[in-house]
Amino acid sequence: MTPCTLLRETAACFRQAGIPDAETDSALLLSSLCGRPPLELRLDTDSELDEKLLSAFHALTKRRLSREPLQYITGEAPFFGLVFRVDPRVLIPRPETELLCEWALECLEEVPSPRILDLCCGSGCIGLSLSARRPDAAVTLSDLSADALAVAAENADRLALKVHLRQGDLAEGLPDASFDMVVSNPPYIPSSQCPHLQPEVLREPRLALDGGTDGCDLYRRIVPDVRRILRPGGYLLMELGWEESDIVAGLLKGHSFSSVTVRDDFNGIHRMIYAVCTPPEELCSRN
Ligand code: GLN
Repeated sequence: MTPCTLLRETAACFRQAGIPDAETDSALLLSSLCGRPPLELRLDTDSELDEKLLSAFHALTKRRLSREPLQYITGEAPFFGLVFRVDPRVLIPRPETELLCEWALECLEEVPSPRILDLCCGSGCIGLSLSARRPDAAVTLSDLSADALAVAAENADRLALKVHLRQGDLAEGLPDASFDMVVSNPPYIPSSQCPHLQPEVLREPRLALDGGTDGCDLYRRIVPDVRRILRPGGYLLMELGWEESDIVAGLLKGHSFSSVTVRDDFNGIHRMIYAVCTPPEELCSRN
């Protein structure tokens, strides 16, 4: 059987099973096995695939048909021009989160050797992407989950990026005013919605998704915590869940953050928020 025929048949089968991106996923699965580019495989009507490869491919398609996410099967996810190792211990990096990284880099343009904290780092995709683009930065990756941190450590190693890793509950134990920027993509799905997520998302760690009753529990804890560990004038950038921007903007203003700004994602959803840790002198002049 040729790659072209195999991929056509597999895509049809995926489509019938209701798998989104059937063509792309089937080509990426085959590509992960034989190391050839997905598009080349889709166009290859000549070469014959051997039995060993076919049976290995069949095993992978079975996993995908059970709605295991593609990235857990191949073990990797592209993000911000890098490739990250992922497995069920961490959330799969999303394209929206790349926008948060871009915004973070914009904010840091004028800051020499910035000290950056990626809070709830998961795979480490945010902090490691920033470290790759700003070699002068001192980046800390932090997560509550030791499992997630192990994946982040592996990613740091593979990408040859020197970062500091710490396990802990948000900012607990971190020194006052020790960062120029805190960036975070915390869990933000309302608990009641968690059981109804797409089958693939249900394979991701609940700890990385569940944001409590209204999805905003983590923001309620992060905002006051981060105020303490940011230097005056430092930046907080966070990803947001659907329709959470008003609540989070209110929290930030309530904790004396200034310049609160929201940006949309590719779908026009208020997806991320920025705020500056107001310096004490400005706080005084406001009163
Ligand atoms: N920071 C990681 C990401 O953006 C993990 C986020 C999380 O676990 N909530 O993918």
